Amino acid sequence: MAENAKPPPQLELFNSMTKKKELFEPRVEGKVNMYVCGVTPYDFSHIGHARAYVAFDVLYRYLKFLGYEVEYVRNFTDIDDKIIKRANEAGETVTSLSSRFINEFLLDMAELQCLPPTCEPRVTDHIEHIIELITKIMENGKAYAMEGDVYFSVDSFPEYLSLSGRKLDHNLAGSRVAVDTRKRNPADFALWKAAKEGEPYWESPWGHGRPGWHIECSAMSAHYLGHVFDIHGGGKDLIFPHHENELAQSRAAYPESEVKCWMHNGFVNKDDQKMSKSDKNFFTIRDIIDLYHPMALRFFLMRTHYRSDVNHSDKALEIASDRVYYIYQTLYDCGEVLSPYREENTSVLVPAEEQDMVNKHHSEFLDSMADDLRTTDVLDGFTDLLKAINSNLNDFKKLQQKLEQQKKKQQRPKQQKQQQAQKQPEDYIQAMFALETEIKTKITILGLMPSSSLAEVTKSTL
Ligand SMILES: [Zn+2]
Repeated sequence: MAENAKPPPQLELFNSMTKKKELFEPRVEGKVNMYVCGVTPYDFSHIGHARAYVAFDVLYRYLKFLGYEVEYVRNFTDIDDKIIKRANEAGETVTSLSSRFINEFLLDMAELQCLPPTCEPRVTDHIEHIIELITKIMENGKAYAMEGDVYFSVDSFPEYLSLSGRKLDHNLAGSRVAVDTRKRNPADFALWKAAKEGEPYWESPWGHGRPGWHIECSAMSAHYLGHVFDIHGGGKDLIFPHHENELAQSRAAYPESEVKCWMHNGFVNKDDQKMSKSDKNFFTIRDIIDLYHPMALRFFLMRTHYRSDVNHSDKALEIASDRVYYIYQTLYDCGEVLSPYREENTSVLVPAEEQDMVNKHHSEFLDSMADDLRTTDVLDGFTDLLKAINSNLNDFKKLQQKLEQQKKKQQRPKQQKQQQAQKQPEDYIQAMFALETEIKTKITILGLMPSSSLAEVTKSTL
């Protein structure tokens, strides 16, 4: 296919730093380094996590499809106040609780067909790198120790808040949290926290303690990807303070540090309200995949562009489920009809109408993905191909029946002459093969091809 031989259009991604779509050009040709902030494993992951990791999985898969070798790092924050609290409540160790929920998270990711990143580091395996980084920031005069805690001095870093565009005065901690008078500026944030009674701790130059939240991502991204890397992603709630602080720490230690493209995904709202645990409109991934096929959830999330907020409602999930089922049922029906012909060698060409449709779909798919991953259009774009498969299937079956009857009645010559200009059975078969291949190829790139057989999926209740 001449159309398909054309190179895909160049990828443009929205960079939260410059607030615009930019041509994506990796630092090293053919290679992409990507860091996405991971979960704090103290409970089952919720649909907001699914939102983020499906969004970055789509990017990861698309980069791989474009031929890039992708180094994808996604961390686990396996030491944190919430983990310590839950472990104490459950009477288990911090390591046991976090490992348990890491495993649960990985099961959820597998259900959603999110490919495993190339590396999934845990904070507790990188304490030494974190201490080195804090030491470097202190040596550069941009952090100070105070009674076993270490704080980043925001006043020492003039670029602070360049990612979020906030003003320093706007985030004075005083309004919600008691101001720590030991800090030089209320906005200074902890790089290292002195251990409280009964908490897990590590030895450090500042005494027993543990890392603050933000420093881990600076340390681990630099360790695995270097000081300059291509993509840093996460939910938009991470822009401030997490990514802003990360950026400040990395630059304060190594001024050459740079993320080429910051990417952030939107939230998941429930019936147009922000989801929150206290309002009981909160859903774990497990809650949803107990009711729907995991691919229905993946489709539902991808149906909204990654930067927009997804509105979760039962109706929207039902619609996603119906649409996924329609894709799988159509592919299954088509596969059943085509199965006797798969091994056949034929010189019959794909009819022009279907060939044009496939070519058009292929180029629209590439254009949409290249334009900051417009998955909404991509998913809607399957409709015409699915309709075409179904109409070919119907017409093919009708024609077969007709030919059978003719055979019985031996009405050959006259009828056949009339049909000469119309599609013959082999034309239908080639049309369906072409349409089927196009859909399967593209849903595989998107991670929507089910891991179990289509027969199995279509039998189950979606
Ligand atoms: Zn992070």
